Amino acid sequence: MTRPESSLIRAYRLASRIHNEPYHMPSPCSRCRDNGRCCLVHLSSGRCSECIDRNTKCDLVVTQPEWNRLDRDKERLRRQLEKAQDDLLDYCRCEEELRARER
Ligand SMILES: [Zn+2]
Ligand SMILES: [Zn+2]
Repeated sequence: MTRPESSLIRAYRLASRIHNEPYHMPSPCSRCRDNGRCCLVHLSSGRCSECIDRNTKCDLVVTQPEWNRLDRDKERLRRQLEKAQDDLLDYCRCEEELRARER
């Protein structure tokens, strides 16, 4: 039997990953392109690692299909998180019933 806690933890981990992990952009910003660097954008700041490091303005242009893809990823994670929370609630309720019956 899988424990619902572990699926909740997994969902939380996924959610925090999409917030903290930089996202590799297929079309780099001009700074990254000039330096031949990988353009890794942080969703929380909207800037790429290179520009954050150098504290410069990032002119990264995220195209609509890319945003849509990011939004879909986030939406999927959000639903996983909700599902995991529901599972955990069910699990707690079962535990309470069991304990009540034991008395
Ligand atoms: Zn960049
Ligand atoms: Zn940049």
